[in-house]
Amino acid sequence: MTICLVTGGNRGIGREVCRQLAALGHTVVLTARDAGGARAAAVELGVEPLALDVTDPASVTAAVDAVSRRHGRLDVLVNNAAILYDTWQRGVSADLGVVRDAMETNVYGPWRMVREFLPLLRSGGSARVVNVSSEGGSLASMGGGTPAYSVSKAALNALTRILADELRGDAILVNAVCPGWVATDMGGAGGRPVADGAVGIVWAATLPGDGPTGGFFRDGEPVAW
Ligand code: NAP
Repeated sequence: MTICLVTGGNRGIGREVCRQLAALGHTVVLTARDAGGARAAAVELGVEPLALDVTDPASVTAAVDAVSRRHGRLDVLVNNAAILYDTWQRGVSADLGVVRDAMETNVYGPWRMVREFLPLLRSGGSARVVNVSSEGGSLASMGGGTPAYSVSKAALNALTRILADELRGDAILVNAVCPGWVATDMGGAGGRPVADGAVGIVWAATLPGDGPTGGFFRDGEPVAW
């Protein structure tokens, strides 16, 4: 039985990732910063709810305790939660408070999650970490606009490289995945369905032991850093 935890699982791509992982027969802990939101989505999908705000150290510690008590290990961590696709901002005039907020959730959140869940990730013997990123964080194609979001996702990609290398010896595969443009509250209308966006994340979450680590992928294919 594979134990999976997804952040921001109450709506959008995270919710769909929970649905697809559960459909594959995995045990899914659907987390959301609002406990009621976690419960409502988890009941609909037939998975386990857990309150978890990735920016709140006490909340993350409580989540580690809960998963430890319930399962004693964690096999898959999907760092999906993110905020602030700041289409209204330009780098030259950006509100640095907004940039800081984006970093808190999109970078320090996943960073804290891996650090705090590491003992449970090590317990399983061969865990997978998926950092849900964006091509907006690709330096290769970086241009102007969405400065808070783009810088936070570029930093998340850098973190992915560092953690992948440091956790190679623990057989923990760490990859960044862009879901593509997906029709969610963040993506807006016109993107592809959440089911299509989630597939590449589930692929990285269920890689075989000899699968890639330290990569950046969309739909299972490499994306330029
Ligand atoms: P979304 O619809 O806006 O959902 C974001 C989720 O993150 C919500 O569940 C939200 O919870 C949660 N969240 C925000 N702050 C949190 C916190 N501090 N702690 C825990 N959860 C928190 O976004 P989405 O489109 O599904 O995006 C999912 C991921 O895909 C993100 O990493 C995003 O950057 C990435 N992505 C999306 C697109 C796209 O086109 N949609 C493209 C590229 C990358 P609340 O309901 O409580 O706010």
